[in-house]
Amino acid sequence: MISQVNAACICHMQVQMVKIEALVLDGLPELTLVGGADSSVKESAVRVINALKNAGIKLPPKRITLNFYPAEEKKTGSHMDLAIAAAILAAYAVIDRQALQNSIFIGEVGLNGAVLPVRGVLPILTQTKPSQGRQCYIPLQNAEEAALAGETIVYAVSTLRELIDGLQGKQAPFRPAGQAPAAVPEEDAADFKDVSGQPAVKRAVKIAAAGMHSFLMIGASGTGKTMTARRLRRILPPLTRQEQMELTALYSLVGSCSIDKMPVTERPMRSYSAGTGLKRLTGDLKKQFPGEMVLADRGVLFLDELSAFPANTLEIIRQASDEGRVRFDDGGRIFSLPAGFMLVSCMNACKCGAYPDMGKCTCSIAEIRRHAARISQSFLERTDICIHFPHIPYEALSTSEKAQRETTQMMQDEVHRAFEIQRQRYRDIPITSNRDLTPDMIKTYCRLDPAQEKLLQETYEKLHLSARTMHSVLKVARTIADLEESEKIGTAHLIEAIGLRNIDRNFWKV
Ligand SMILES: [Zn+2]
Repeated sequence: MISQVNAACICHMQVQMVKIEALVLDGLPELTLVGGADSSVKESAVRVINALKNAGIKLPPKRITLNFYPAEEKKTGSHMDLAIAAAILAAYAVIDRQALQNSIFIGEVGLNGAVLPVRGVLPILTQTKPSQGRQCYIPLQNAEEAALAGETIVYAVSTLRELIDGLQGKQAPFRPAGQAPAAVPEEDAADFKDVSGQPAVKRAVKIAAAGMHSFLMIGASGTGKTMTARRLRRILPPLTRQEQMELTALYSLVGSCSIDKMPVTERPMRSYSAGTGLKRLTGDLKKQFPGEMVLADRGVLFLDELSAFPANTLEIIRQASDEGRVRFDDGGRIFSLPAGFMLVSCMNACKCGAYPDMGKCTCSIAEIRRHAARISQSFLERTDICIHFPHIPYEALSTSEKAQRETTQMMQDEVHRAFEIQRQRYRDIPITSNRDLTPDMIKTYCRLDPAQEKLLQETYEKLHLSARTMHSVLKVARTIADLEESEKIGTAHLIEAIGLRNIDRNFWKV
């Protein structure tokens, strides 16, 4: 008798839908696997047969053949244990084959018959077509994650016995309440109130956060660049429900989120510094690690001390930033994962770190130029805002000054208001923030009056801006107008945006 079961596995960080057929014939006991299953799946089948015996199921010794298809796709891992168990049980007529229709089985099985949690349940369920299963059997520990998938009927099992009883109709399988886990925001005591004497910096960071614009912080060490980066996450725009689901599915797929942290409700903040290995950035297929660029999707990728990055690393980041995805080569088969990160970086303006304070800088002009030249123009062009961190005057460190400083809450309120304006404005197009405006969209949403056009044209010619940089200026001007709750971009908004972009001229044209 042949049985057929819907299953899925995760191969190189991608969901692979699988059908498993089991055939049981009389003859010398033998277990044969065909259809692209690797050695880990063979181990699965052996484990499952022993687990069934340990669960008290008597299976007479016979020739068992398991067929996995589509055969040309590789099958790997332990995700298919539960499905293999169901297929064998149906082939032995322990359960009715009809009971397997319209169902998908996901989960690992222990030798003692326990059903163990697996990663990637949410992305598997969101990619399961109705024809592949309207109901799913999953490990109990994955129940909350599965509830996020919405429409599928979820049955949670903690042992093989429960699965068998449920499929035999002896006992109704457990249906979790369907309650998706509540969001638990992470506590972070770091507040912008602690960043002293940098009101212009805070203003620029607020603008960057409100439109999700990329920015580069330049300044000597001790001026607050890392402090600022650490506090950025708290003022970023909130994730929409759809974004939360997509991000949770991605994190579940790559196994970078524990079950108790689901759903992902906050934008990720990932950092990378040169010298920690390129694979940490780009990912490692063998280790099923997607890399920091993918883990920073819809959040921030922070690059510490940019001038230490080799040119080819910057080029890899630039490419991923342009495409919003990272490509992987799985033995000639190319696939990609999302990497829509906001790029935030920091660096010293010169080797000694004191430039442009010429009284303190010990570098020669040639050294300052060499330092700046480490960052290519094409990388700089992807930076919407350059923020200079000046030396902090002594008075700024006083307690009375601290009382007047802007707090994280104040900045967050402003950013959230500006983001809501963007969300409303772009509700009919597939973007949520100003940084994603295409050149065509810029024509529609960043209109200037004739006097402003003239100002921009003069700036374009005087500063030898590229078309890309000019678009950056317009997008940032749009965000500044949104922060002021102004429907139209004002001249002051445009001038401020030009000023925020122009600072690289001060450092790269010494
Ligand atoms: Zn110097």
